[in-house]
Amino acid sequence: MRYAETGFNLEIDLSRGSIERVETDPRDTELYLGGLGTNAKILWDRVPPEVEPFSADNLLIFGAGLLCGTPATGCNRTIVSTISPQTQLMAYSMMGGFWAPELKYAGYDKVILRGKSPELVYLWIHNDRVEIRDASHLQGKGAVETQELIRQELKEPKAQVAAIGLAGENRVYFASIEQGRSSASRGGIGAVMGDKGLKAIAVRGTKDLNIARPDEFMPLCNEVLKYIKFRNENPIPGVMPILAGLGSPQEMKVHDEKWHTENFMWGNSRTRRKDFWNEEIAKDWMETMETMRTRLISCYNCPMTCGATISPPGLPTYMMKCFSKLTYTMAAMSDLAFGMGIAQSATEYGVDAFSAPQVMAFALELYENGILTDADFPGMPSDNEGRFYWLLDRIVRREGIGDVLADGTYWAAKRIGKGAEAYAHNTIKKHEQLPLKLSMLNPIYFLMYSTGEKMNITQIEGQFPQAPFVTKEEREAFVKDWFQVPDERFKQYFLDWEPRGEKSMPFYPTVEMCCNIVDWQERMHYIDDALGMCAGLSSFPLKPPYHIHNYPKFISSGAGIDMDEEKLTQAAKRYRTLVRAVNIRRGMRRKDEKPPEDHWKKRFPELEEKLLDAYYKLKGWNQDGVPTKESLQELGLAYVAEDFERRGIIKNGQS
Ligand code: SF4
Repeated sequence: MRYAETGFNLEIDLSRGSIERVETDPRDTELYLGGLGTNAKILWDRVPPEVEPFSADNLLIFGAGLLCGTPATGCNRTIVSTISPQTQLMAYSMMGGFWAPELKYAGYDKVILRGKSPELVYLWIHNDRVEIRDASHLQGKGAVETQELIRQELKEPKAQVAAIGLAGENRVYFASIEQGRSSASRGGIGAVMGDKGLKAIAVRGTKDLNIARPDEFMPLCNEVLKYIKFRNENPIPGVMPILAGLGSPQEMKVHDEKWHTENFMWGNSRTRRKDFWNEEIAKDWMETMETMRTRLISCYNCPMTCGATISPPGLPTYMMKCFSKLTYTMAAMSDLAFGMGIAQSATEYGVDAFSAPQVMAFALELYENGILTDADFPGMPSDNEGRFYWLLDRIVRREGIGDVLADGTYWAAKRIGKGAEAYAHNTIKKHEQLPLKLSMLNPIYFLMYSTGEKMNITQIEGQFPQAPFVTKEEREAFVKDWFQVPDERFKQYFLDWEPRGEKSMPFYPTVEMCCNIVDWQERMHYIDDALGMCAGLSSFPLKPPYHIHNYPKFISSGAGIDMDEEKLTQAAKRYRTLVRAVNIRRGMRRKDEKPPEDHWKKRFPELEEKLLDAYYKLKGWNQDGVPTKESLQELGLAYVAEDFERRGIIKNGQS
């Protein structure tokens, strides 16, 4: 019997219209867990580097995390993996909501799509009945609208539907897949779905899922719930509101946006508005939020209510997620009401709320600087907000300049030329990243930005405070109940970390400490992404309810796989290395691992090289960032080493 997972994937060939239910190998679950881990294994095995993102041979995999559908609180992530048109590397984007548990209850762990349908279709999965259905009548419909139309058509109000909007149909490189109160947004996975001629996947499942040892599993779930309650009642003092609690409910509940609005660069990194936040703005933004926010909502099996339904005047209600609250507002240097309004259109079009605003602000910056001219913007309104709406429409339709911008800032800058590349301020590995432009190099963030292959906007941050606490007393108070640390060393790193002086950034934490901190952070993100856990309850916050000490127990009693901390660490390292291997095979190397030049004003090239050298060594990668033959063998990835040798990526007999 299989536990926590169903043991079956759905294999759909959209070119041939074939549907297969395929039993999976339980040994793969032991080695790669599920979700991201097994997605990476499938991409490695079946999508060689010669396959282009928009090739019929590219796969689009919707993988439910290993523990999704179990009673583990907050475990609801679908991990969507493919080769990204934007980065040409592996993208894996997570969506919360309800889709992954529903897929498990229908009897499947993954939906693996290959080929391309000649006509627009959607997939209907209802337990054992799986159909490819005509979607021509849904062409051009919004991503949210489509979900409702499909539910009505199927007469299944409880079906969970993941859909693309016009942006996905038109292969916009930052098109998202929208589902309920969530979306999988990064890396242009919606464009791959559109390229495959797939408008949506609707799922309804009513089967049971087996738990290996429920008498052990349920008390663990209850402990987590109890701890969530405790953390909600005891926010962490001395950190910004978004970090004081769990999840990201602060974005929809708390009105204090001083930190984000004053520390992030607005308008595609043009301006930092240091004294923006004042009483008047606080009041105005609170009123906007209070009048437009109709309800706070959660993902499946979670008490956190991070999301909200937003009803802007005269517009349909939609669900807003997390940081999208601010991205449009800040890109347009406007106010919250504008951001809430345009996000409604953008959600229906199905675009990444992080990339899309930056791309539009980038276009206007080029216009201000004479690189693009009036001839590029025929009929564009003269007011700033009108321009953003105008640009969004052009981008999702790929009309005129919109066709160029639809490829994202990196590729658009290349096509535009005339020095436009200097304005693509935020790209790392060809996609838009955080518009944070700070003064002093932060060595921990340097490593995360440089080496990360997870494309979420917070990268792989979490667990360790973002900045030192001012007094020793505050630090001592913080570490007192910090039981989530993998070992005691991390407490000492933090206790000794000072805002100024010898033990301050960029030289403290030391190179070795930075490597250990980033490695811990990354490990937790990768574990979440295989189990399907929301990062908001595990890898992202400080002092989360899920951690390296209780996760093995969840896996052992839930999935029936004998697990301890060491084995789990090794498994996470294995599939993390596999993600890197997919990307190395596609040409990624050390030269690509650098944050934007102007990410920090004060840079330390020698230290940065040392950080990369040491981190690569810790990870078992050579000086070019390629996993060594020895480390691959140690992880049970000898097949990767052989492939690397065959391709001349590593030389025979050498690492
Ligand atoms: S913490 Fe928030 S984002 Fe995470 S599962 Fe719960 S409601 Fe969803």
